[in-house]
Amino acid sequence: MSANVVSILYLIAAVLFVLALKGLSHPESARRGNLFGMIGMAIAVIVTLQMSSVDNYLWIGLAALLGGGFGVLVARGIPMTHMPQLVAAMHSLVGLAAVLIAVSAVYNPQAYGIATAEGGLHLSSMIELFLGTFIGAITFTASVVAFTKLHGLVSGSPIVFKGQHLLNLILGLVMLGAGIMFCATGAWTPFLIMLAIALVLGVTLIIPIGGADMPVIVSMLNSYSGWAAAGIGFTLNNQMLIIAGALVGSSGAILSYIMCKAMNRSLFNVLLGGFGGDAPTASTGVKTDRPVHSGSADDVAFLLKNARSVVIIPGYGLAVARAQHALKEVVESLQKHDVKVRFAIHPVAGRMPGHMNVLLAEADVPYDIVEEMESINSSFADTDVALVIGANDVVNPSARTDPGSPIYGMPILDVGKAAHVVVVKRSLSVGYAGLDNDLFYMDKTMMVFSDAKKACEELVQAID
Ligand code: NDP
Repeated sequence: MSANVVSILYLIAAVLFVLALKGLSHPESARRGNLFGMIGMAIAVIVTLQMSSVDNYLWIGLAALLGGGFGVLVARGIPMTHMPQLVAAMHSLVGLAAVLIAVSAVYNPQAYGIATAEGGLHLSSMIELFLGTFIGAITFTASVVAFTKLHGLVSGSPIVFKGQHLLNLILGLVMLGAGIMFCATGAWTPFLIMLAIALVLGVTLIIPIGGADMPVIVSMLNSYSGWAAAGIGFTLNNQMLIIAGALVGSSGAILSYIMCKAMNRSLFNVLLGGFGGDAPTASTGVKTDRPVHSGSADDVAFLLKNARSVVIIPGYGLAVARAQHALKEVVESLQKHDVKVRFAIHPVAGRMPGHMNVLLAEADVPYDIVEEMESINSSFADTDVALVIGANDVVNPSARTDPGSPIYGMPILDVGKAAHVVVVKRSLSVGYAGLDNDLFYMDKTMMVFSDAKKACEELVQAID
């Protein structure tokens, strides 16, 4: 295949990747987006495999079989609620791959076609290797720590100590110095020092960041892994890797920014965890002595059947209970009674971006009744019943009213403006931010203390 044909095919793959990202921005087009991504990746892999520099098909085939097989097994077995840690684990592999490629390129530059006539490395290659290695190494260890925190293997609380930021600064400077030495001499020792410090930095940068900010960090690591891949793309002189890496890098950075905005957090604050102390709070304790109105499925069914308009607010508890299919049946039963039903999605409901959209799509809930926060918030005043299922923080009015609250300033769904509010959850326990919720104690609120799936199943019976 000529170089021109390779370039054109890579360009087609790159366009498909852009279309994939565009498709993934909306649930309705997400499947198509995924398909574009898969076709683009297939083109990129096939074109790369036929290059004359690639010859070791047995090893490549074995690695693809092993990696692919393991990936299928893991993806099939993983529950939706564990997706953030799976993504963190995957990023660690991207970082590790970037480091391993860089190490082997420094060890044997001839094999990569980047050696000088004397067998050393060009300055430009050394700079690219330096960038790819330190970003890859930080991504690797930081993702491993993020995985252990998200999976509950270690505590999600921030680990903060005196002089932490100074230590990180010193480590960063020494790493930079070693990197400059490597670029000046091409020697192994400064390269290995730079690599070792980058691995340590990945840990020290991530430990002060609290569990609630971890998904933003995972998205940032996604971005880092993209930049590491792009850096290695320069080393391997592979345009496809540069383009794909840059796409991952920039989309990850944009997603992190969007998530921070939705949680009212500053990206700077999240990245430099430990500054400002606005990491997640532990439970502030629930004032259980405050009276609540509780009701049964029959009470809720009566309210719902007699409503003209119902807005359902799903949250993390819906995912835990895997109640999306039962909830869809509730919607269908209400529609049979001519009730207008819509869903209101908060951008950080659940534990990862788009979590609720994915759950509802899984249950084949029509997209045209699923609305984002900005578009539906003004409708709550005309809503007869707001049905909150397994959500807590995203409907907590203290985000609006209590300047002392850790979530103060976070945009919330205005459910309190509906004529009636029904909240389905198992107890008065706190949500992710560890805060009591005044919504539960309002006169117009009826609490249904139940598992979300059980409650939905009972509701379907009671409505019909
Ligand atoms: P929350 O974590 O605030 O609340 C979930 C509620 O679900 C809990 O109070 C729990 O109450 C209830 N619940 C748990 N299991 C069940 C069950 N089986 N049946 C019924 N209810 C159940 O969730 P939200 O979705 O409202 O808010 C998301 C939170 O996560 C926000 O604080 C957000 O900032 C944070 N976050 C989100 C990210 C994202 O990208 N989406 C990323 C990082 C953090 P009980 O135990 O009483 O049942």
